Amino acid sequence: MTEVSTTRPARRSARAAADAGQSAVPAIRAFDVVVSRVEHLSANFRRITFGGACLSDFGVQGHTLDLRIKVMIPPVGGGSADLGALMEDSGSGWYQQWLSLDQAERGDMRTYTVRASRCHQAIPELDVDFVMHLDDDGRGGPASQWAAAAEPGDRVWIIGPNVHAATCSTAGAYGGIEWRPGLAQNVLLAGDETAVPAISAILESLPEDISGHAFLEVPAGSDCQEIQTRSGVGISWLVRGGRPHGELLDAAVRQAVKVPGWVSLAAPFRVSLGSDTPSGQALAAAAGRVGGPERAAGPEPEDIDVDRTILWETPQLLDAAALDGSLNPDKPAGALPFYAWIAGEAAVVRELRRYLVRDVGIDRKQVAFMGYWRRGKAEG
Ligand SMILES: Cc1cc2nc3c(=O)[nH]c(=O)nc-3n(C[C@H](O)[C@H](O)[C@H](O)COP(=O)(O)OP(=O)(O)OC[C@H]3O[C@@H](n4cnc5c(N)ncnc54)[C@H](O)[C@@H]3O)c2cc1C
Repeated sequence: MTEVSTTRPARRSARAAADAGQSAVPAIRAFDVVVSRVEHLSANFRRITFGGACLSDFGVQGHTLDLRIKVMIPPVGGGSADLGALMEDSGSGWYQQWLSLDQAERGDMRTYTVRASRCHQAIPELDVDFVMHLDDDGRGGPASQWAAAAEPGDRVWIIGPNVHAATCSTAGAYGGIEWRPGLAQNVLLAGDETAVPAISAILESLPEDISGHAFLEVPAGSDCQEIQTRSGVGISWLVRGGRPHGELLDAAVRQAVKVPGWVSLAAPFRVSLGSDTPSGQALAAAAGRVGGPERAAGPEPEDIDVDRTILWETPQLLDAAALDGSLNPDKPAGALPFYAWIAGEAAVVRELRRYLVRDVGIDRKQVAFMGYWRRGKAEG
């Protein structure tokens, strides 16, 4: 049976696993890594490559997809607490132990996506793409400020999957991966700049027989990147410029997924880089024209106060009934099994959730909604 969880999966440790009488190999562990390269990808993205022999134990079998990790941001001018020892000593209580340390000593924990992993090559490395959300004085959250100043040789701790754990043997089973399309052949990916690394990695993994559309909203034209995919998924970059965060993304999804009761994913835009990008005015106008259907096609999803709660609603596994459309008797013959993955600023994701679930009537088992950050709120 499909489960819908509204919280991120709890962290586990060797002690927790042992306490539960399960495998002694911990599902997650701390990796003591060093910055090996820093690349300025664009106006708002910086790629940091982490290296270290310990990374040969990092990962899941197969594609990393939208695999999330925790980056332990060191305090300004100081080194981080020894996470390896803390996890070893405190078992499942490591996080509480870490939290109880003075922040000036422990630093901050932030969530990022593995953009690329080469952990099982001769020189183990992984890439993380940081969004530089800095104000005019160069101030931002601890993670973006750390990334802006990072140099080769800097050390941090990363918490991520232990490739030797049984739960990491298939990407679909590991809790740090939410992309679970099952047998879906028609997909929608939508996200803001924080979701660009995840969407890019997912697109790179997709086979030829998957179709659909990916919408990526980014601050500036130079943030549009080249993404390789064998799939038939069309990619549209939406350049925000001075418009409100999420306006273009919202409009694009509404224009692409219009039909209540079942999903016809129109592909209104070609792959668009730079001057090919559809104009924001056209999209915003299109959103106005699309509007909502006269009656709700699905249930009103329970409201989520994104100021208080993390918006995280991801189906664990898609069951066959959801995919073959038998939950959806109005689905026309020939409509492909559908799956959507939506991530970004929580209030923007919440509105898209409402639209897709209530107005279009998409079954919640077919959509992953993830608030990657909350306006005005630090992570933690
Ligand atoms: C599963 C997951 C995967 C993620 N992957 C990535 C990734 O690969 N790359 C990436 O850059 N981010 C990613 N994020 C988002 C990232 O964790 C947040 O943006 C985080 O808040 C950044 O930490 P910070 O210390 O810079 O800012 P915080 O201290 O957390 O926040 C400080 C202030 O900055 C604001 N803020 C936070 N992020 C942004 C932003 N992007 N734009 C504008 N304002 C912001 C907050 O609202 C707050 O007011 C991911 C989040 C999740 C949950």
